[in-house]
Amino acid sequence: MNANPNFTSCGSTDTPDIDLAALREKYRLEAEKRKRPEGFAQYLETTGDYEEYFDHDPYSPPRTSPPLSDEIDVVVLGGGFAGLNVAGRLKQAGVGNVRIIDRAGDFGGTWYWNRYPGVQCDVEAYSYLPLLEEMGYMPRDRYSYGPEIFEYCQQMGRHFGLYEHALFGTVVNALRWDAGLGRWHVGTSHGDDIRARYIVMCPGPLNRPKLPGTPGIKDFKGHSFHTTLWDYDYTGGDWLNPVLDKLADKRVAVIGTGATAIQCVPFLGQYAKHLTVFQRTPSYIDDRGNMPTDPQWAKAVKPGWQAERMKNFHIGINEVFDRADVDLICDGWSELNRNIQAKREAEGWPELSFEQLMELREVEDYRAMERIRQRVGSIVKDQATADILKPWYRFLCKRPCFNDDYLPTFNRPNVTLVDVSDARGIERITQGGIVAGGIEYPVDCIVYSTGFETTTDMRRRYGIDVIEGRGGLSLYEYWSEGFRTLHGMSVHNFPGLFFTGWIQGGVSGSTTLMYDQQGNHISYLIGEALKRGGATIEPSAEAEAAWVKTIKENLLLDVPFWESCTPGYNNNEGLAVTRYTIFGEPYGPGYYAFNDLIREWRDKGDMAGMMLVGAGQIEGV
Ligand code: NDP
Repeated sequence: MNANPNFTSCGSTDTPDIDLAALREKYRLEAEKRKRPEGFAQYLETTGDYEEYFDHDPYSPPRTSPPLSDEIDVVVLGGGFAGLNVAGRLKQAGVGNVRIIDRAGDFGGTWYWNRYPGVQCDVEAYSYLPLLEEMGYMPRDRYSYGPEIFEYCQQMGRHFGLYEHALFGTVVNALRWDAGLGRWHVGTSHGDDIRARYIVMCPGPLNRPKLPGTPGIKDFKGHSFHTTLWDYDYTGGDWLNPVLDKLADKRVAVIGTGATAIQCVPFLGQYAKHLTVFQRTPSYIDDRGNMPTDPQWAKAVKPGWQAERMKNFHIGINEVFDRADVDLICDGWSELNRNIQAKREAEGWPELSFEQLMELREVEDYRAMERIRQRVGSIVKDQATADILKPWYRFLCKRPCFNDDYLPTFNRPNVTLVDVSDARGIERITQGGIVAGGIEYPVDCIVYSTGFETTTDMRRRYGIDVIEGRGGLSLYEYWSEGFRTLHGMSVHNFPGLFFTGWIQGGVSGSTTLMYDQQGNHISYLIGEALKRGGATIEPSAEAEAAWVKTIKENLLLDVPFWESCTPGYNNNEGLAVTRYTIFGEPYGPGYYAFNDLIREWRDKGDMAGMMLVGAGQIEGV
């Protein structure tokens, strides 16, 4: 049992018996039928002909300030949690001259843009929202909704004094290193020329929406939009009050059934005259059971509680519980680990080799997924529809989803589910509808819930045409054969350019935990370089090569697992597993081992492997 009074129960889950061999084969067949040889190339970028799906900001007036030409110490690209964390840590390290640039009209990143009905974080807020103790903030609910998270981002911006230099409504389109100046030229959509000593890339994984590469998108004569730019003018309501009353006479289609669709489909089902959901791969859906934060619990937490909780969340999903571990999170994310722990406890906690542990994990995984499939059958009344909604893949192959209203939506008489898995997606869009399985479904509105450029090519993910380091070297070329970094955060030949995200470091499924680690390290590096009068700083070729070797030798990438998964952005669309998995190339010993490694590196104070060249000094010294 969990001692945390905020939660009602926590223990292992009863899971059904399974036929492992039969299920393995079923999973294989289900994955195979969805594989498309073109991989990520099946998707369209929301640029060029498709720009209209992401070329405007309905939430803020456009920027009217004249082009800037100035000098600044640090430019942080992106004002979501990664950027806020890095910039906040820089401020704490005494680096005042920091400018966050973002295409959005405010801070928030994904929580600024995504205002679709029902938008919510499916990771508990006590583990997800960063720096809660420093901010003196306690989330209202266990699982926060979008508006609260967006407000929290704004609070972080105010708390760290980041609004003063921020540049919103601005798209960065070129980064060029100027060796003579010892600075980066930051070129933007507004003709700015900002000269920065240091740049920190904080784009987040969900910053650029993508569309299915389906013929006919431009032919459609009805209305369409991507979930990331929800069109409340068309649907009615707003994100604080999503009463979509203008859809009462509309036939609406949703393409996609990932984590976003799971949250907005219940609203569309409730308000549309008719809703047709086009599903290629069903999501894992478990119950949500949200609840307000218990004020007694909030009062009783002790200093350091959030770090402990974030660590517990990380272990619950990324590692294996030890005998002594208490699960503080107690939700679907840590179910598998709890079930394994209970099984081992029942057997007297036998010593297991790594292989035996993985075998046990596989069995418990299949059993847990069988529970999820049976759950679908118990909620969705029409069994043919229920069968289509059952996920046939292992836990974490796709993002697990938790929602109490999604499955019941398919019991509504005005909602139809169309399975497009056999055709590997919808076939075509016409002037008046969507064609799937040879049938045309006439609709008035298409909602693209088709995700983001999460693990596509770096140029697509960053959306910056030019990133040129020393001697005009392109970052995209430098990385064309794979990532080359020191600690996943800096790159030889790109002085003072720093990276956040899943590249070559200590990976966690908890993004905000990872950003905190990177924020700490990058702010230290920049702080040290500034102490030397604004030195250029970059890893030496040798240090970078040594780190890449370390990464390759210790790679924590369960290739057989990912290759067995149904295709998706997590696993390079089911093609050969490469750095295009979501976690990049993780440091094998794990997130906390990496944390120790970089902390010890900092504590030594010798900046080993870094070339720091003070203003006026000669490079390489
Ligand atoms: P996803 O990439 O998860 O889902 C895209 C959907 O579009 C999939 O169902 C995909 O099918 C489908 N699709 C793509 N192409 C076609 C096609 N040609 N025909 C039919 N269907 C197609 O995007 P989401 O926006 O749902 O979620 C993205 C991520 O955002 C999540 O994984 C999560 O990390 C994050 N998120 C987090 C939330 C939270 O609570 N914290 C809430 C919402 C999103 P297929 O699966 O077969 O590829």
